[in-house]
Amino acid sequence: MDAKRCKIIVKGIVQGVGFRPFVYRKAVEHNLSGYVKNIGEGVLVDVEGSQPLIEEFIKDLVNNPPVLAQITDVQTHWLEPQGLIGFSVGLSDSSNANTMIPPDISVCDACLRELFDPADRRYLYPFINCTDCGPRFTIIHYLPYDRNSTTMRVFPLCRDCESEYKNPLSRRFHAEPIACPSCGPRLWIADKQGIEQEFDNPIREIANRLRQGHIVAIKGIGGFHIAVDAENQDAVIQLRMIKQRDNKPFAVMALGIDEVKGFAYVSKEEERLLKRWEKPIVILRKKRPSTIAEAVAPNNTMIGVMLPYTPLHYLLLREGFLALVMTSANFHDEPIIKDNEEAISRLSHCVDCFLMHNRPILYRLDDSVAMISIDKPLLIRRGRGFTPIGHKIELAYNGASILACGGDIKNTFCITRGNQAFLSQHIGDLENAYTAEHFINTVIDLCKLLNSTPEVIVHDKHPDYFSTRLARRLSEEVFKGSKLVEVQHHHAHILSCMAENNYYDPVLGMAMDGGGWAGDLQIWGGEILLVDRSGFRPCASLYPLPLVGGDRAAKETWRMAISALYVCNRTDLVDRIAEAWRDIDRHKIKAVQQAIPYTKITSSSLGRLFDAISAILNISILNTYEGESAIRLEQACTMDLEEQIYPYVINKQDECWLIDTRPIIEGVVVDLLDSCPISVISMKFHYTIIHALFHATVDISKKFGIKTTALSGGAFQNRILLSGLVRWLKSNDIKVLTHSKFPTNDGGLALGQACAVMLYGADKLS
Ligand code: ZN
Ligand code: ZN
Ligand code: FE
Repeated sequence: MDAKRCKIIVKGIVQGVGFRPFVYRKAVEHNLSGYVKNIGEGVLVDVEGSQPLIEEFIKDLVNNPPVLAQITDVQTHWLEPQGLIGFSVGLSDSSNANTMIPPDISVCDACLRELFDPADRRYLYPFINCTDCGPRFTIIHYLPYDRNSTTMRVFPLCRDCESEYKNPLSRRFHAEPIACPSCGPRLWIADKQGIEQEFDNPIREIANRLRQGHIVAIKGIGGFHIAVDAENQDAVIQLRMIKQRDNKPFAVMALGIDEVKGFAYVSKEEERLLKRWEKPIVILRKKRPSTIAEAVAPNNTMIGVMLPYTPLHYLLLREGFLALVMTSANFHDEPIIKDNEEAISRLSHCVDCFLMHNRPILYRLDDSVAMISIDKPLLIRRGRGFTPIGHKIELAYNGASILACGGDIKNTFCITRGNQAFLSQHIGDLENAYTAEHFINTVIDLCKLLNSTPEVIVHDKHPDYFSTRLARRLSEEVFKGSKLVEVQHHHAHILSCMAENNYYDPVLGMAMDGGGWAGDLQIWGGEILLVDRSGFRPCASLYPLPLVGGDRAAKETWRMAISALYVCNRTDLVDRIAEAWRDIDRHKIKAVQQAIPYTKITSSSLGRLFDAISAILNISILNTYEGESAIRLEQACTMDLEEQIYPYVINKQDECWLIDTRPIIEGVVVDLLDSCPISVISMKFHYTIIHALFHATVDISKKFGIKTTALSGGAFQNRILLSGLVRWLKSNDIKVLTHSKFPTNDGGLALGQACAVMLYGADKLS
């Protein structure tokens, strides 16, 4: 038999996902000799054997890799054989230039079986894990990924664990966070003051306390959760008080799909999304009635649900809960609390006790949030499981490393390495000083971990954005000499959608959003932009509304209602409509009315128009969390009336067309005063917007001969708007690009900013 030798380099997410033991087993199966080891770029496999067997082996590697592996490239080099004997698994190389960082992985089925097997030595051990599951990103100090580079290095392996760790045939061969009750982390209960309390079964004790309505801080993968029994209305209200949170929904965790189906509708796609190993929070439609406390998601037809993802969660939920509220332990928009001491000092005044462990967390990481929209997953918040996975931007780019600083709300940032873009985990709202510090620290940490030094720093065009100021600070103090460039907010939104879809031909970008600076006292957010390789130009814009009080108008949405009535010349109706706004001081309403004629700053944002309509209809007059009024307007649509719309006008005189929404506002008001049901008005309003945007796009498409659209901006979290537009555009042979893996809200902005530098070059943007 003619022996051959082949060196195979496998790139992608191939470290920390059980790739080497997998290669070992496959090599033995195919009767090959040689070795496998981690190298800087990924995994190196060096094999000898007959050529057909080697070829079959490579096919097997590529076609059936471990569930969590993501292979991006396989290179093979055929060489003369050396007569290697046996197959061995080598240790890691010390170079780490291009390795990917594995994400945190929910506990696997094999580990769960052991967890509940009384004969297993890890029976009921809350930190059980293997090569297929367990914490990764949140415990890695540096690459390559090895026990010594993780926070688990403080736990020396016992003999049993060590033999599993060293055995290539074991499920725990080189499972870096490997642990057992005799050598690994432990769990304990601490009282309010942080003093440890002794209990034989801390989990059962915590379950009892939760059942009594206690509020418990529980340490997890990327930080602490605050938990209460989701069926206990008083406990949930208490939790709202301590978190000082008005209406923003809490997420709940339920043991399995059957439990979830007890209080929410779950489609096939939603079930698949819930069960993915990333275990995101999935936004589902509530079933009514249910025993889940109303205060979990007040004034909301939807509820965010996740399945357990650590052994600890399983142990706790199996104590007999339908669901537990599991909300990130933080206040307002501060970063999630991760360390034990930090938790004690910040939470002792508001929780009843702590469930703690001694496995240190390096990186703060919130749960990810997703929903099914137009039959596919749409990520709303990227956190655990989804970061820090790289996204390959298919542009010929050999330029400088980029740091894109994102937007101010729902901030994420993006770091590039070659043409790989790494979008950070959810950071939060940068207005908060703690969050701003967290932003700076996470940028520095992630740059180190990725071995990338930014030479270009991108920020939003808004001169006063916190992210803009932080970008300047990073360029002056940390990455000295880096070049600062700016990108317009909605241009970045559209580029983000293009980058996600790897599509760089000219598109008509629909940027439907909350708001973004466009200069000259103009806030955009309702534009159709032509975006191509030379830049962007606005082709159509919604009718601008005066923004009285600037940023306050985005929170006190009744202000937008008054602006909307003003532009329609119907200020005579303000008093009548404001009658329903019981909580708003009459003097404030008068003051806003008087200020409008002198207000120079205007907004064409679709988000603000939704706010205005929501307030006119008295569905919601405040945004106690971002998007609340628009969400409630969407949820008010309970019937399908596609054929009914309000009048609107597209004024095509100027280069940038004006979509005149004033007749829509008037139509809404007339219907309201006519006592037309709110559900009908909100549905008609939604379809009118779809109609107007669709027709404007079709006409612009003809004007420029561009048949591809890209939909981005926070307003596309509205499922009625998104699905309606996608359906109509597609049936008119217009290609539609939408988001899925990256948020359509400002959480995806940084990807577009980074893409701008790759597409146009830093010189053109400065
Ligand atoms: Zn496992
Ligand atoms: Zn052990
Ligand atoms: Fe935005």
